[in-house]
Amino acid sequence: MIAGLTPDYWDIELIDENFDAFEYRDADLVGITVLTSAAYRAYEIADIYRKKGIKVILGGIHVSMMVDEAEQYADTVVIGEAEGVWNTVIDDFTNNRLKKRYYGELSELNHSATPRRDLFHKSYSYANIQTTRGCPMSCDFCSVHTFNGSKYRQRPVNEVLDEIETIENDKLFIIDDNLIGYTKQSAERAVELFKGMINRGIKKDWYCQASLNIADNEEVLKYAAESGCRMILIGIESEKIDQLQETNKKMNIKIGIDHYEEAFQKIHKHGISVLGALVFGLDSDSKEDIQNRARFAIDSGIDAMQATIVTPLPGTSLFKRLEKEDRLLYTNFPKDWERYHFHEVSHKPIKMTSDELMVAMDECWSTMWDAKTVYRKMLKTLKQTKNAKAATWAFASNTERHNLAFGKKKKAMDIEKLLKGMI
Ligand code: SF4
Repeated sequence: MIAGLTPDYWDIELIDENFDAFEYRDADLVGITVLTSAAYRAYEIADIYRKKGIKVILGGIHVSMMVDEAEQYADTVVIGEAEGVWNTVIDDFTNNRLKKRYYGELSELNHSATPRRDLFHKSYSYANIQTTRGCPMSCDFCSVHTFNGSKYRQRPVNEVLDEIETIENDKLFIIDDNLIGYTKQSAERAVELFKGMINRGIKKDWYCQASLNIADNEEVLKYAAESGCRMILIGIESEKIDQLQETNKKMNIKIGIDHYEEAFQKIHKHGISVLGALVFGLDSDSKEDIQNRARFAIDSGIDAMQATIVTPLPGTSLFKRLEKEDRLLYTNFPKDWERYHFHEVSHKPIKMTSDELMVAMDECWSTMWDAKTVYRKMLKTLKQTKNAKAATWAFASNTERHNLAFGKKKKAMDIEKLLKGMI
């Protein structure tokens, strides 16, 4: 997006350490987008350039939440969404009057710049697109509402469709935190988007993130499926009410834990699989609760499982509370931000020690992504969705996590080939 906002006369290179090791390259100006777990690395790279007298601008969610920290490692920090200020930043740099801080307002999302997808590494399997920003909810562990605001902002549907038509990849991840929003109007807009994809003959398979109430909207699900939706990531968080209350997961409380299965079935009926995100290590979690949640994930209608350790990221209510209670486990910042990545315990739980939680999680991951479980899940998804692509996508997601948990590939990969042959 930042490249898309930059005037054409700039030559832009994107270094992506997900694929390529960093190698110093000469530059006039360096911009680094900073996520919390990568903050230390970002500061290291910033240092390399600044020592050579090359200006470094840092931005992104971590910088916006930890301005004073980030400022020590940058010539300039951009706080908030960059769209509204990036032109000024570039202009000021060109005229040698770069300021220390710039504040990006939360602007309306029309006439958005087109992301420079040509800069991305070719190995990405999915293309990404964003159609909305902001969330009116305030879950304890989430910083979306702090960063993108609590107003749900929507891009005009035609602009989104125009952008999708420029994307070559036939697989799409719509990265909105909640594609359907929370109002009748936002659900209707989602339907308009899906119908637009169908009418324009856009043939892509896609997945998205949405709140659990998507299950109650037949029309949304029907047109989502027809336009290529194969999987929906839903923040289930927990199967117990006390943890939903603790995390302030209002939508799931409203729908009710007793209706989870019904919701999964309604989604399956349209040939779409469910990627259920669960969170572990909450204050109300005992060791038994953790084992029960893993069991719930396996036995439930969730197709692809995501199981992360609750992680206090800057900008969340959770972070503020744990910091106040002296319950952050690692505080040698910025180095320790590397530990805040959802798969390592970074806080002091209440009902067990941090080490006990880590051991319990290792056991959970081994149980949840055991090869037989992953295989059974795939057959169940196939039976329930009657859609081989939906089953493949859920299976691929579980396989990836199986490989991470076990470091093995063979058996799961053979099954994946088998499924691909069925499509
Ligand atoms: S977790 Fe989802 S619903 Fe909750 S505040 Fe974040 S974006 Fe909103």
